[in-house]
Amino acid sequence: MEAEMKGYTGKILFIDLDFKTYEVIQPDSTIYENYLSGVGLASYYLYNSIPKDANPLGNKNVIAFVSGLLTGTGSLITGRWLVATKSPLTGGWGDANCGGTFSPAIKQCGYDGIFVKGISQEPCYIHIDNKSVTFVDAKDLWGMDSVETEEILEKRYSKGKKPSIATIGQAGENLSLISGIVNEKGRIAARSGVGAVMGSKRLKAIVLQGSLPIKAVDTQGIKELSAELANKVRSFTLPNFVKGSLLPLGGSFLGNSKKVTPLDGMMLMPIMKKWGTPGTTTMAATMGDSPIKNWSSTIKEFDKSYYKKFNPDIVTKREYEKYHCYSCIIGCGGKSKINDLSDGKYDHTHKPEYETLSSFGSLIMSKDIDSIYIINEMLNRAGMDTISAGHVVSHLMESFDKGLISEEDLDGIRIVWGDSKAAIKILEKMIKREGVGDLLADGVKVAASKLGKTTDKYAIHCGGQEPAMHDSRLDPMLGVIYSADTTPGRHTTGSSQYYNLIRLWDKVSWAPKVKRYDKSDEYVASEEEALKTVANVAYKQFVDSIGGCLFAMILGVQHWKIFEWSNLATGWNKTPDDYMEIGRRIQTTKQLFNLKHSIDPLSFKMPDRLSGKPPLESGPTKGKTLPIDEMITNFFYASGWDNNGVPTNKIIKELKLDTFLEDING
Ligand code: SF4
Repeated sequence: MEAEMKGYTGKILFIDLDFKTYEVIQPDSTIYENYLSGVGLASYYLYNSIPKDANPLGNKNVIAFVSGLLTGTGSLITGRWLVATKSPLTGGWGDANCGGTFSPAIKQCGYDGIFVKGISQEPCYIHIDNKSVTFVDAKDLWGMDSVETEEILEKRYSKGKKPSIATIGQAGENLSLISGIVNEKGRIAARSGVGAVMGSKRLKAIVLQGSLPIKAVDTQGIKELSAELANKVRSFTLPNFVKGSLLPLGGSFLGNSKKVTPLDGMMLMPIMKKWGTPGTTTMAATMGDSPIKNWSSTIKEFDKSYYKKFNPDIVTKREYEKYHCYSCIIGCGGKSKINDLSDGKYDHTHKPEYETLSSFGSLIMSKDIDSIYIINEMLNRAGMDTISAGHVVSHLMESFDKGLISEEDLDGIRIVWGDSKAAIKILEKMIKREGVGDLLADGVKVAASKLGKTTDKYAIHCGGQEPAMHDSRLDPMLGVIYSADTTPGRHTTGSSQYYNLIRLWDKVSWAPKVKRYDKSDEYVASEEEALKTVANVAYKQFVDSIGGCLFAMILGVQHWKIFEWSNLATGWNKTPDDYMEIGRRIQTTKQLFNLKHSIDPLSFKMPDRLSGKPPLESGPTKGKTLPIDEMITNFFYASGWDNNGVPTNKIIKELKLDTFLEDING
C-alpha cells in the first residue's frame, strides 16, 4: 500500500538555509508506527538532528513545522499544526501549536513536516507547492508586522490556491525570547520562544500553496464517526436565558465544592460555541483558577467590580464573525471590530482569548477591557506571547509597588497595578527592543536578572517559561506539569480538570478510574495522582501527534474518537494502550532531549508562590499548599524515570528508545 494512503504522506522536507538547499526524505514506516506524526515525528528527528552544543539561535538548531496524522483525513478538530525546536527560552525542548489552515497545507504540499536548519545570509521566505521549494528574498518584508506580511504575500500569490502562511512579526525578528509564529493574521503559536528561532534564521515566512490530496485507508469509516460527533456537538446548545452574567456563580460553585464529580466534556461545548474561551474568564476568576495580582492575591481583591467587566456578553458584542480552524465544528474563535478603540489604527482583531484577557486583566489588576483589545492586536501583529508579556508587566508592577524599581528604571514610565495604558507603553518598547524594552523583551527571568535590585523575588516563571493563566493551587496536577513537564509552565499538557473530562479509563487499561471523590485527595502526593498525570501527559502527546485541539481533547474519549480514527486512517490495528505507549515514548524522548541539552529537570520547578507557600488567605484556594517536591518525584517514578527525572534503562528498553535514538549513550 502507498504510504500516502495511510493518513500520513510518508515524506519530510529538510531545508538547509546555510546553503539554500533541500532534500526530501521518506522515513521508514516503523518511525510512523512508533512516533506517529506531529510532535512525535518532531521529537524523533529533533532528538537525532540537533547536536547537544547547539545554540538555540544558531545555525545548528532545527525548527520543525509539522502537521498531524489525522489532519485532512475527514476526522474532526484535528487540523492543528505544531512547531518544535530547541527553545531559546528554556534551553530545552520547545514547542507551540496553532490552528488555521497551515496544518493541512503542509500535507497538501506532500509532506508531514518541514524541518529547517541553518541561517540565511539575508532575510528570506520559503514558498512551497506540489513541485517546488523556492527561496525568496524578504528584505522588503523585514520590519513588517505579521498581518502586513500575510496581506502582501497573499496578494503576491493570489493565483491558484489561497496560500497558507506562517510568519514572524517584529518580535521574532528582534529575537525576543517570548516571540511566537503567527498565521491567519493573528493566531499565534506563542510559547517556547519559537519566533526567535525563526528570526535567528532570518526566515520571515513560510508560504504553502500545495494542492495534493490527503488520503486515508478507510475514509468512509472516518466520515461515519465524524458525522456522529458533529450531530452531538450541534445538538448541545445553551438555552437563551443563560447570560454571561450568570457564569461567575458557576465558577464560585465549582471552586468551593469539596467534592469532585467527573463531568461530560460535551457540556462545555455550548459555552465554547457561544463565547469561545472568553466564556470562561469570569468563571475562572471566581473559581480560583485565574492568577490575580502576579499570583499574590485573590478574588477578594479582584472583586465583582473588576470581573464583571469581563462578562463574555460584552466581549461578543464586538464580534462580527465567528472563526473556525480547519476541520473544526466547535468554532471557538471570532473577529472583533476595534476601529473605535484604536483611533482607526486597527480595524479589527481576533477576539482576545481567555489567556490574554486574564494576563492583562486579573494578573495585572486591570478592568480596562478596551485596552486589552489593543494589546491583543499589538502583540499578535508583533508575534509576542501574551501570557509571557503579561507576566513581564505584572512583574514590573509588583516590583514597582514594592519600591524595588522606579520610573528611572523604566524610561520614565510609572507602572502601578491596573494601569493598562502604562502597560501598552512598556509593550511598545518591548516589541521594538527600545530603551528598557530591550531588557524586558526576553521574558520575566531575563528581565529580573537584568533589572537586578532583587526583583527576581517576584519573577514568576518555570525554568524561564512563564506559566499560563491557571492556578496550580486550585489544580495540583497542573502544578506538577508546570514544574516537571518537558515544556514547563504549560497549561495544555494536563490537569486534574482535564483528566476528569477526558475519561481515559473508559479505554485505557491502566488509567486510574475516577468517580466522585474529595477535592482534598488531589493535594496528596499519592501514586494514583502520579499515574493520572502520566496518563494525561501521554494522551496529550498522542493528541499533538494527530493534530488535535485541546478543546476537543476535553470532550472526552467517548465522543472524540482519535483512537478509532487513527486506525481507520492508517489501517493499523492498534489498541488505545498501544497509542498511549507511543505517547509515553514521545514524552520520554522529549525528556531525553532536555537531558542531552544539559537541562536539569528539577530546575523547572515553579516558584513557591504557585504551590501555596505561603498559602492564600482568602478565596477558593485559601490555605492550600501543595507537597510539590513529593508530587514531582512520584510523577518521575510513574513515568519510569528516576528521582532526578532521568529515564531508567528499564523504561528506555521498554519504549525501544535505545533502538530509535542515535546518541542516547553519548
Ligand atoms: S476549538 Fe477553537 S482553537 Fe480548537 S480547533 Fe476549533 S476553532 Fe480552533
